Amino acid sequence: MKKYDAFLLDLDGTVYWGKEEIPEAVTFVKTLKSKGLPYLFVTNNSTRTKEAVADQLSGFGIPCTPDDVLTTSIATASYIKARKPNAKVLYIGEQGLQQAMQSAGFTYEEEHPDFVAFGMDRQITYEKYAKACLAVRSGAAFVSTNPDVALPNEHGLAPGNGALTSVITVSTGVKPVFIGKPEPIIIDLALEKLATTKRRTLMIGDNYDTDIMAGINAGLDTLIVHTGVTSAEVLKTKAVQPTYALNSLSEWTFHE
Ligand SMILES: [Mg+2]
Repeated sequence: MKKYDAFLLDLDGTVYWGKEEIPEAVTFVKTLKSKGLPYLFVTNNSTRTKEAVADQLSGFGIPCTPDDVLTTSIATASYIKARKPNAKVLYIGEQGLQQAMQSAGFTYEEEHPDFVAFGMDRQITYEKYAKACLAVRSGAAFVSTNPDVALPNEHGLAPGNGALTSVITVSTGVKPVFIGKPEPIIIDLALEKLATTKRRTLMIGDNYDTDIMAGINAGLDTLIVHTGVTSAEVLKTKAVQPTYALNSLSEWTFHE
């Protein structure tokens, strides 16, 4: 195992399962903290604020402040800000996206927005879709927080943000820029936030198709942990392998 100076970590399936922490991951993050190694939690969940995520992780005993969290909503706001600092944005999403847009200083605009920013919205309506489609047809740039088509819940798989976003794509013929994993955009923003480089940073996650592909697409070394979505059997079928595959984070060896 190489020595890395910074670490990007997925959340669900990597540091916790739903409402339960993964003890090996708690120990791993505590070790990062005690060694002074920078880390950032990178999540495709656009619905929660960074404060809500940090509260949950702190509750698990994981050292985490809101600044240690990069959600797709915050990444989406950074992406827009880099292109138009005073953008007028039609944003559709839950609290996480609303807060990210407001703290970036964007004006909410329905008539002639510069951007349509779309994220998971469990209160989505026909009217919201109609406004988004009209704006995209009028030339607003179309961005979406993440492409996940399905979301696991206690009953099975429910539609994810990629599925909700597809309504606008099908209706207008315009494909969005997706910000979250497996796109490299969120990873590049994470590197910027930690002031690190791809060669010195390790991407860690449980899902090959999102976490590991995001790392590979952004040019980082990757570590898959078999504590969540992707089993060792499924991993064998993938053409491009992660740099490391472990059953749990307790198997990681730190250099002194
Ligand atoms: Mg995960």
